[in-house]
Amino acid sequence: AAERTKDVSAEPPVLPAFDYAPPAYTGPSGDEILAKRKEYLSPSILHFYKSPLNVVEGRRQYLFDENGRRYLDGFGGIATVCCGHGHPDVVAAIVEQTKRLQHSTVLYLNHAVTDFAEALASKLPGNLKVAFFTNSGTEANELAMMIARLYTGCHDIISLRNSYHGNASGTMGATAQSIWKFNVVQSGVHHAVNPDPYRGVFGSDGKKYARDVQEIINFGTSGNVAAFISEAIQGVGGIVELAPGYLPAAYDIVKKAGGLCIADEVQSGFARTGHFWGFETQGVQPDIVTMAKGIGNGIPLGAVVTTPEIAKVLTHRSYFNTFGGNPVCTAAGLAVLKVIEKEKLQENAFVVGSHLKDRLNALKDKYELIGDVRGKGLMLGVELVTDRELKTPAKDETLHVMDQMKELGVLIGKGGYYGNVFRITPPLCFTKEDADFLVDAMDYTLSRM
Ligand code: PLP
Repeated sequence: AAERTKDVSAEPPVLPAFDYAPPAYTGPSGDEILAKRKEYLSPSILHFYKSPLNVVEGRRQYLFDENGRRYLDGFGGIATVCCGHGHPDVVAAIVEQTKRLQHSTVLYLNHAVTDFAEALASKLPGNLKVAFFTNSGTEANELAMMIARLYTGCHDIISLRNSYHGNASGTMGATAQSIWKFNVVQSGVHHAVNPDPYRGVFGSDGKKYARDVQEIINFGTSGNVAAFISEAIQGVGGIVELAPGYLPAAYDIVKKAGGLCIADEVQSGFARTGHFWGFETQGVQPDIVTMAKGIGNGIPLGAVVTTPEIAKVLTHRSYFNTFGGNPVCTAAGLAVLKVIEKEKLQENAFVVGSHLKDRLNALKDKYELIGDVRGKGLMLGVELVTDRELKTPAKDETLHVMDQMKELGVLIGKGGYYGNVFRITPPLCFTKEDADFLVDAMDYTLSRM
């Protein structure tokens, strides 16, 4: 069937027009930077492409390389650049605040911090209104788990297999993919069966998967737990949407066992899914929400938001963070919220994301190699398999397609435990034309394999 519908004679797709060209770049070449990177930067740093891109400038949904070549950014700095690269309002907020005061500390007052905390609270449901600012998603999740342990007096935490929650000791323990774990002592963490509709044993029956949460509590704990932590859509794990009905059922079970429910919104928050928060897609009300990435459009910022009652456990505790809640970062955060509103980015993520998903599903009908298309809004995944029945991961093909798409001018990410899922998480100002270009570039590449 795939053979019949291939159109290998098509011309390569052309990038949509864009009214900006960067000034000539005069810095060191990509080769020079790569040599320095190899000598002076940790070898743990990865890049996906055969020859890594020297990115010198970004404007909205586009990146420019050292030769002034423009690329459509379909990865958004790993789901981080939500308003678009170099958004003028975000830049202005950062510059203004930097001129006034670059750094404050929790010992003093500063309105850039409280204004943002107030605005953030207005975006959260229920009584979720007390924020603690951090520098990253890892720190936010570490703190959330600590708060849950202090509040409940329990140590056990349940997270999902295939999840990613960070790279410090507690969050690395909660993370459940071997490729992201290094000699970690997994204190009190239990990993529940992943409610993955594509690869999971119960298909799309969320309630059946939730039974495993009860089993863990019955047979792996004293009957009480501190918390359940979960992404609404797993990002690093390969854009895995949790089976419908899973979170409400799991939350019920956890609450009955005295635990708090933590929503890790580091990737799925800030309008990315076409909803403001990913957890809204499953209709649940978490006790603690953690966030980072999109919150500052790329500026290092994270947050834990919870209820006043739960936040009380931190009263007069010497828990402190030098840079978390830096006024420059919170000024950026406030500007991000305003841009999302002003430019209707949440609505755009929904409309453009739906169009993009429809077009990707049409590609799935055309190419056997595409096993699954999933996700919501502008958080989409395309899983490549060499055998649809066996779901054999097509890892080499994934890298090849990414490289070829880069040559055509579009950058996407990859992930999933087997490294065979395209992750499409562009800036939320992505247009329908951009979406069409991305799919045409994928189609053109797949047609030549
Ligand atoms: N939680 C999720 C869902 C993430 O995707 C990530 C990072 O990718 C983290 C937490 C950790 O965030 P950070 O890299 O800012 O520490």
